[in-house]
Amino acid sequence: MSLAHGRPYLAIPGPSVIPDRVLRAMHQGSPNIYEGHLIEMVAGLFPDLRVVAGTTGHVAMYIGNGHAGWEAANANLFSRGDKALVLAVGQFGLSWANSARAMGIEVEVLDFGKSTPADMGQVEAALRADTGHKIKAVLTTHVDTASSIKTDIPALRKAMDAAGHPALLAVDCIASLGCDEYRMDDWGVDVTVAACQKGLMTPPGMAFVWFSEAARQRCAGSDLASPYWAWGPRAEPTEFWQIWDGTAPTSHLYGLRAALDMIREEGLPQVWARHRVLAGAVWAAFDAWGAGNPAIGMNVADPAHRGWSVTAARLGAPHATRLREWCETKAGVTLGIGLGMAPSTDPAYHGFLRVAHMGHVNAHMTLGALAVMEAGMVALEIPHGPGALAAATQVVAKGA
Ligand SMILES: *Cc1c(COP(=O)(O)O)cnc(C)c1O
Repeated sequence: MSLAHGRPYLAIPGPSVIPDRVLRAMHQGSPNIYEGHLIEMVAGLFPDLRVVAGTTGHVAMYIGNGHAGWEAANANLFSRGDKALVLAVGQFGLSWANSARAMGIEVEVLDFGKSTPADMGQVEAALRADTGHKIKAVLTTHVDTASSIKTDIPALRKAMDAAGHPALLAVDCIASLGCDEYRMDDWGVDVTVAACQKGLMTPPGMAFVWFSEAARQRCAGSDLASPYWAWGPRAEPTEFWQIWDGTAPTSHLYGLRAALDMIREEGLPQVWARHRVLAGAVWAAFDAWGAGNPAIGMNVADPAHRGWSVTAARLGAPHATRLREWCETKAGVTLGIGLGMAPSTDPAYHGFLRVAHMGHVNAHMTLGALAVMEAGMVALEIPHGPGALAAATQVVAKGA
């Protein structure tokens, strides 16, 4: 018998749950793309997008997903043969590095593995070793969605300054924007990349690149920035069509407008605080399940290095896959697969999963997902420690 009938909950780290308000806003016929309401509405998106990234700088919008956002950043930051230093703490950092390499950029990867945060001493040393200042930019994830490791961006900025290196700092916030505290200008970030389908609660289809005035000047004339990818006309259009180098993604824009309204009404610091509490509930549950059960545990040991929007964990193969299947088919909760932790053909793959607590989520959704996970562990006879739900409940009670 299945108890899954009812509203399903997709708790994978993106696409995230789409609010009904966003869906309703998107449901309309094609507007005039030359004059009228759409043009005014889009003008208002720019300031609100700056606010969510914590910048007074420029923002360019693209029709595309997160991978498009990476290529947009690469195309504007670099010319062919320029060098990038990439920090990798999981699959997404490695993938950004691959996209840059494929575009003809020379790439040096500092790979810190899948469970340990970036070592800023190594970053500083790599920059100091680059005496000719060949490295044009440092690329990093803020939260790597595969490992759920959060990189300390202010510490990275400090390491770059300590090395006295002029490289620009570019940060992938696809999994963290609108979830985890992020302050582009205060933290000295030059370029921020995000997409709309995670903390911005809009169906996949738009990417954003914010860039500082310093980045605009240093990158003018990059020979990879073909007309479609060049950020200049998108950020400072003289005609409306230039914002997307063609037809606007009209329905998505109405959805994004509603999502940004929701973030503004809740208040960005409150949005971050909600994610922090819900993440804490998930972490408390895993601590309890894993007590005395070494097979169960979170991927990241130190809470300071865990993202607030997703938690990567292990459950012992094949229990993670069994639990995911149970939760989806019996209870309507879809958990995330373990990404990049082991090849999908390796039996070890079935020991990893991820729980998303990202975007349009509240206490009943997270506590419900945790209770369902525990019901699944009981039903499947997966050994686990007691007290997880009580511990998660305490976190919510204290945090609310
Ligand atoms: C989701 C994600 C991406 C990739 O986004 P796509 O829309 O799947 O291309 C890149 N980086 C991070 C950190 C992500 O979370």
